[in-house]
Amino acid sequence: MSQQDPEQIVAELRLRGLRMTPQRRAIVMEALAAPGHISAAALARKIEERVPGCNTSTVYRTLALLDEFGVLAHTHFEGGVEYHRAEEAGHVHLTCSRCGSSLSLSSSDVEPLQELLREHHGFAADLSHFEITGVCRSCLESWATIAPGTREGPPPHV
Ligand SMILES: [Zn+2]
Ligand SMILES: [Zn+2]
Ligand SMILES: [Zn+2]
Repeated sequence: MSQQDPEQIVAELRLRGLRMTPQRRAIVMEALAAPGHISAAALARKIEERVPGCNTSTVYRTLALLDEFGVLAHTHFEGGVEYHRAEEAGHVHLTCSRCGSSLSLSSSDVEPLQELLREHHGFAADLSHFEITGVCRSCLESWATIAPGTREGPPPHV
């Protein structure tokens, strides 16, 4: 689905047979307006008080439906599933397991790896489905400058 305004998306979902209750409508609007990605729990917190009858399970179900309809796409993070607008979901998330900082790579950045997997293994990898965890540059650099014996935790595997 290409970049569309939320009203158009709501109209299209209705055409495709999704019943649009005021709660669902509010969830769609909020999910499409969220910058980056958002979890069902965070979205529920944002609209619970504003929209009566909009509990967490309604939010979970509606986001799953929007995912099925191709409006949203999900990524698995260490903290759970989060949703992006489908057209913005093509990037790869890198999360530092030491400091929690995150970076993202565009789909063109990961194209060489994708190509390699396709060519040598006939495998079409979905690299944006899960975040990639590792150790960020600044954590690696600070590890290298800490004197042996005073370092905390195991060395980063690189
Ligand atoms: Zn993202
Ligand atoms: Zn880090
Ligand atoms: Zn999944």
